[in-house]
Amino acid sequence: MPELVFFSGTMDCGKSTLALQIEHNRSARGLVGLILTRDDRAGEGKLSSRLGLVTDAVEVEDGVDLYAYLVDRLSRGGRADYVIADEAQFLAPEQIDQLARVVDDLEIDVFAFGITTDFRSKLFPGSQRLVELADRVEVLQVEALCWCGARATHNARTVGGVMVVEGAQVVVGDVTRSADEIGYEVLCRRHHRRRMTAASARAAALSPDVLPVTPH
Ligand SMILES: [Zn+2]
Repeated sequence: MPELVFFSGTMDCGKSTLALQIEHNRSARGLVGLILTRDDRAGEGKLSSRLGLVTDAVEVEDGVDLYAYLVDRLSRGGRADYVIADEAQFLAPEQIDQLARVVDDLEIDVFAFGITTDFRSKLFPGSQRLVELADRVEVLQVEALCWCGARATHNARTVGGVMVVEGAQVVVGDVTRSADEIGYEVLCRRHHRRRMTAASARAAALSPDVLPVTPH
């Protein structure tokens, strides 16, 4: 039975690496996949992993009907034995419905990879629809770690290393960035709630204001 599978997790949990591994395993067996992505860190039309692997992909634009796209590709003699959709949190809910229809009506496996929640710990609309529709949700636990060493379960948005909790839901950035740029950092829930990033923890540790005072 073909399936819609949602591989979900935080940033840095190895989603794109797993997507590339699935692609490799299936193409090594002679299967041909359609790889979709949106706003990958490596640029338009790329699926990349932080470990340095990259492959070509189809960039999904706003308003594209993914079911119609597949039907069109197949009717022109193209092949798609399976679909990989990376950065699926950025897809519109109706595009997730279209992917479910690809599974049901075209009998093609769809493997979607996405971040579950945004920097305010709210579900991305695309991820919410995937949770609602997927045959299976696999939560990836590749031990992304908070600076404190606890398991990172939350995504924080930072500006110059300082966590922010307001702003547009989608601003493309990465976990590596220079000062003053928008970036992202994975944190445990405790430090996400306290808005304490690695940089602010370091600053607090260095600040004379918070050094323990030795009583005399
Ligand atoms: Zn922590």
